[in-house]
Amino acid sequence: MGQHLKIGIVGAGLGGMTAAIALQQRGFSVAIYEQAADLGEIGAGITVGPNAAKVLSALGLEDEMAALADATPHSGILDHKTGERLNYTVRGAEGFIKEYGAVSRLVHRADLHNVLERAFKPEGDALRLNHELSGIAQDNDRVTLEFSNGQTDHCDVVIACDGLKSIVRDTLFPTEPPEFTGFVAWRGLVERSQVPNVSLDPHFCAYTAEDKMFARYPVRHGSLINYIANARKPGFDTESWKATADISEILGEFDDWHDDVVSIMRATPNGKCARWALHSRKPLKSWITGRIALLGDAAHPMTPFHGMGAGMAMEDAAILARCFEASGANNWKDALQRYEQARIGRANKYHVASLKRGMTYMSADPADRAQKPSAGMEKEAAYDAISVPI
Ligand SMILES: Cc1cc2nc3c(=O)[nH]c(=O)nc-3n(C[C@H](O)[C@H](O)[C@H](O)COP(=O)(O)OP(=O)(O)OC[C@H]3O[C@@H](n4cnc5c(N)ncnc54)[C@H](O)[C@@H]3O)c2cc1C
Repeated sequence: MGQHLKIGIVGAGLGGMTAAIALQQRGFSVAIYEQAADLGEIGAGITVGPNAAKVLSALGLEDEMAALADATPHSGILDHKTGERLNYTVRGAEGFIKEYGAVSRLVHRADLHNVLERAFKPEGDALRLNHELSGIAQDNDRVTLEFSNGQTDHCDVVIACDGLKSIVRDTLFPTEPPEFTGFVAWRGLVERSQVPNVSLDPHFCAYTAEDKMFARYPVRHGSLINYIANARKPGFDTESWKATADISEILGEFDDWHDDVVSIMRATPNGKCARWALHSRKPLKSWITGRIALLGDAAHPMTPFHGMGAGMAMEDAAILARCFEASGANNWKDALQRYEQARIGRANKYHVASLKRGMTYMSADPADRAQKPSAGMEKEAAYDAISVPI
C-alpha cells in the first residue's frame, strides 16, 4: 500500500477526479490542486462509452451511473435537410454488453462530475480549491508546486490533469501551444417541454452536411436535449470554455436545416449557447519527465468527434492506479513508465482518429457522411482498462 507516497494531482476535471479516486481506493495518499473556487463542470452533455463505464463500474459507481441514464437505445445519422435516416443502429443494454462488455450512456457532464465528487474522500487537505498552479519544478527528492495564491507545496509524484492548456506540459515538455483545428463548436441545452414535437428517435443522432454537422441527444431522462453544432471555420480563433454566442449566430449557419434542428436552436435560452474554437496539440512521444506525468487532455487534447476525450482520461486514470498498485509505493518510476507504455499508443490513436472523424462527418462525399458515429473505431470501444495487461 502506498500510504507514504504523496501523489499530487493538478486539476479536478473528469480525468483528475477519476485518477484521485482510483488511487485513493488503492490506499495512496493524494492531494488535488484545483484552480477553481468550487468543484464542478461547465458544459452540457457527454457520451460515457462502454470503456469509460468499465472504469466507473470498477470504482463502484455503476449504480449511480445507471440512475443517471439507461443505455443508449439507438443512434443514427440523418440527412441534414430531410431528416431521412442514412444510418440507424439499434443496440440497447443487451447489445452493448454483448458487443462491448458494458453499456454506453448519454449524461449531463455536471451529473457525472457530481458522481465523482461524492466518491472522492477529501480527507485532511486532500482537496485544495483556489489553487492555481503557477510554477512546477523537481529535484532528486520531490516536486515543488507553486500557486498563484502564494502557497507552495511538495509531493513525491505529480500527475498533471490540467487540461488542454496545461501549464505543466508547457513548462516541462517539448510542446507547441494549442492550435486551432479549423472547427468551431456551439453547444446548448434545451428544455424538452419547449420542443415537444422534436423526434428523439434515434436517441443519439447526427445530421451531417459538407463542412457542418449537428448532433443532439436527450439527457436527464429526457427532460433536456443537449446539442452540439459544428462548422469548419478557418480563421476563427477564440478557445474558451466560457464564450457564448447569440442564437442568431448559429441560426445564420443552420437556418435551412431540418425543422427539428432549427427548433432546438431557437429554444436555446438567451446567453446559454456556448461556443468553442476547437483546439488541439500534436501528440507527444512521452508523457513523463522525472516524477511528473501528464494525464487526460494535458497529455492528449483531442477533438470531440469520437466523443472520447473524457473516456481516454478515465482509462488513463484507471491504468495509472493499477500501475502504482502493481509497482508498489517505493517504485513510482516503474509505475509511471508502465502507465505511459500501456496508454500512449491507444490515446494517440484516438487523438488522430478523432480529427479524421470530424472530416468524415463533414466530408464533401455523402457516402462518408452517412457512416456510423463509431466508424473505423468500433473494435476500440471494447477496451477494458481494468483488465488489459500493464
Ligand atoms: C465540445 C466538446 C464536446 C465533448 N464531448 C465529449 C464526449 O461526448 N465524450 C468524451 O469522452 N469527451 C468529450 N469531450 C472531451 C472532454 O470534455 C475532455 O477530453 C475532458 O473534459 C478532459 O478531462 P481532463 O480532466 O483531462 O481536463 P479538463 O476537463 O479540461 O479539466 C482540467 C482541470 O484542470 C483545472 N486546471 C487547469 N489549469 C490549472 C492550473 N494551472 N492549476 C490548477 N488547476 C488547473 C481546470 O480548472 C479543470 O478543472 C468534449 C470536448 C468538447 C470541447
